[in-house]
Amino acid sequence: MDWLPQLDRCDDLKQLRDICLRCRRCGLRENVRGVVFGEGDPQAKIMFVGEAPGADEDRLGRPFIGAAGQLLDKILAAAGFEREKVYITNIAKCRPPGNRVPKKEEAEACFPYLIRQIELIQPRLLVCLGTLATQYLIYREAKVTVVRGQVFEKGGIKIIPTYHPAALLRDASKKKVVWQDFQQIKKLFDQIG
Ligand code: SF4
Repeated sequence: MDWLPQLDRCDDLKQLRDICLRCRRCGLRENVRGVVFGEGDPQAKIMFVGEAPGADEDRLGRPFIGAAGQLLDKILAAAGFEREKVYITNIAKCRPPGNRVPKKEEAEACFPYLIRQIELIQPRLLVCLGTLATQYLIYREAKVTVVRGQVFEKGGIKIIPTYHPAALLRDASKKKVVWQDFQQIKKLFDQIG
């Protein structure tokens, strides 16, 4: 059975998740405990998209639960979001070895899952966390350092890039601009809500 039409025929996230959990479309699947599909409100108006799972996420099968995830939780709460009411996922659903950035062929292989997640959830606002999500959801040459905080729009969905929380753990000086970005994200969210 051809794979893309199979995704298109998924009417809900559970069907899509079941296919994704069995996926072996790229080499990342060989070294992981499991696929980290994503979690949150299936009717969320806002989706956060990161890069790929890390060790903690791979172990527990949930996105953004390690150190970067805990920081994201704090930022979400401070900005006025409830984690259960948003949807959180990544470009690549399997953990790259050593937490490296997914290779182009791996991100390409996995991207259709994200596209179908977006089609099924129908968010009004997408937040790209880091460069990889920014390049896949906005344009391929985008640099998050240049476009962060700007509002883009595709297919009626507003898209805002900001730094990945892991970048804040490496460089605390980025916290100020990320906080500005999240205030803007919340303002836009309230407008669409
Ligand atoms: S990273 Fe994505 S495409 Fe690759 S095996 Fe995992 S789920 Fe499939």
